[in-house]
Amino acid sequence: SRAQAMEIEASPAVSYEDIGGIDEQVREVREAVEDPLTNPEMFEKVGIQPPSGVLLYGPPGTGKTMLAKAVANETDATFIKMAGSELVRKFIGEGSRLVRDLFDLAAEREPAVIFIDEIDAVAAKRTDSKTSGDAEVQRTMMQLLSEMDGFDDRGDVRIMAATNRFDMLDEAILRPGRFDRLIEVPKPAPEGREQILEIHTRDMNVAADVDFADLAEQLEDYSGAEIAALATEAGMFAIRDDRTEVRRQDFDDAYEKVEDAEEQTTIPGP
Ligand code: ATP
Repeated sequence: SRAQAMEIEASPAVSYEDIGGIDEQVREVREAVEDPLTNPEMFEKVGIQPPSGVLLYGPPGTGKTMLAKAVANETDATFIKMAGSELVRKFIGEGSRLVRDLFDLAAEREPAVIFIDEIDAVAAKRTDSKTSGDAEVQRTMMQLLSEMDGFDDRGDVRIMAATNRFDMLDEAILRPGRFDRLIEVPKPAPEGREQILEIHTRDMNVAADVDFADLAEQLEDYSGAEIAALATEAGMFAIRDDRTEVRRQDFDDAYEKVEDAEEQTTIPGP
């Protein structure tokens, strides 16, 4: 059903303090999404339109959804999430209908932040195959673009989207007045990984022998989501050993386990 396709939260429980290692991205999102909601007169006085849509792109699990939730929380806006894959529907007109419902709902609940995850599912470059499925996806994208183009009358609604596949996007959605603010959300650098470790162990009883700077160095190429999972796994090792304090050895055991699992799921090369 339509209601199930959307996730609605009055004020999501994520704040900027929960997001580590991407301070510059937080700053950019605040400027592009928060300022127009909290200080619209500033834009009027200067005589410019705030950015229409903000597109976050980068690898999975780096904090894109968190950024969108945090900005909604911080502005007391309703957070309305829709996955792009949900907009790809079997029946003709169903996808466009959902897009209309999404924007209508946001207008009813303003101030609101619309977040379309996996936008590439509906906004991929046209392929050569001319199947009817493609044409339907195309229509859904057109509906999305037309909703965005008619955005001025929609009041306090801001729109954000995310993708892991920036290279696949149709340029039509990146035109001025549409997703015209692009923010790359990369995997964290070592200092960022250290911050994320600190965030995800805030409520943990961590032993004095755990050096987060050192551990962060070891977690090369880890995303925020992977770091969060590692911290939980370390806690599980402590519980297995009937301890309430989490030691460096638990993080090392967790690291081994994660790396082993990784090896097993990686398809061996030729
Ligand atoms: P996807 O592209 O897979 O949707 P995403 O970039 O939207 O991923 P999130 O859903 O924001 O990723 O992150 C998933 C979880 O990983 C978060 O709930 C959080 O626990 C953790 N996480 C990811 N990035 C960060 C970060 N920068 N700081 C703190 N925690 C993070």
